Amino acid sequence: MRRKIVAGNWKMNGSTDLVEKLVGYVRSEVSSLDNGVEAVIIPPALYVRDVKALAGDELAVGVQNVSRWESGAYTGEVSASMARDCGCGYALVGHSERRQYFAETDAVVAEKVAQLLSHGVVAIVCVGETLAEREAGQAEAIVSDQVRTALAGVSGDDWQKIVVAYEPVWAIGTGKTATSADAQSMHRSIRGVLEELGAPADRISLLYGGSVKADNAAALFAEPDIDGGLIGGASLIAQDFMSICQAMPAGPES
Ligand code: PEP
Repeated sequence: MRRKIVAGNWKMNGSTDLVEKLVGYVRSEVSSLDNGVEAVIIPPALYVRDVKALAGDELAVGVQNVSRWESGAYTGEVSASMARDCGCGYALVGHSERRQYFAETDAVVAEKVAQLLSHGVVAIVCVGETLAEREAGQAEAIVSDQVRTALAGVSGDDWQKIVVAYEPVWAIGTGKTATSADAQSMHRSIRGVLEELGAPADRISLLYGGSVKADNAAALFAEPDIDGGLIGGASLIAQDFMSICQAMPAGPES
């Protein structure tokens, strides 16, 4: 059984005002859904405790990044143990913006995954190809390599703490979305790589991210290997985020 997850990545957006307006609304709306979706709010780290205080049991909370190190003299870093201590059940790692602006390599992503697993936080591992890589016919090879390297050290029960988010870089924040068929095909391929790695691939949730909106979410979520979404821009608007949560089909999890 795979969890159905819709996670909102606020990126470097938000304020105490947004926390107060959005979280209470989403919490009460989510509690009336009967489609089994787990909604996760991933604000900037400074707002995690505020979100957590309003989230109740209905909403999960995550951080957008953690350090590859355990603790110590790493000014500005936030550790996996702090994320856990502050009530985060989830953390993003390897988001394409981290890869692009902060030189986060697959090897660094693997270290961050190890940190998260050692503190019992679910790692949402982001992978995805650039437009140039897709146009060169390399999308599947690039994404497969990212998955293999980031998850090479995972084994046993730790697989239960892994979620993979496929986010084609060219679709993030651009308004362009992969077709449902292309997204499904990449998700199927990722599941194959997970199987090669010895993971219980059928039980690992795979999310699609990249300009998911209320009007395209249902088609994406209807695909058999797409178990939810990682939502950027649309997660900052409470009603839009809720419409995406509502777009998850009801019925038993895969
Ligand atoms: C993201 O930040 O992970 C993302 C998918 O952003 P957007 O939905 O805005 O494309």
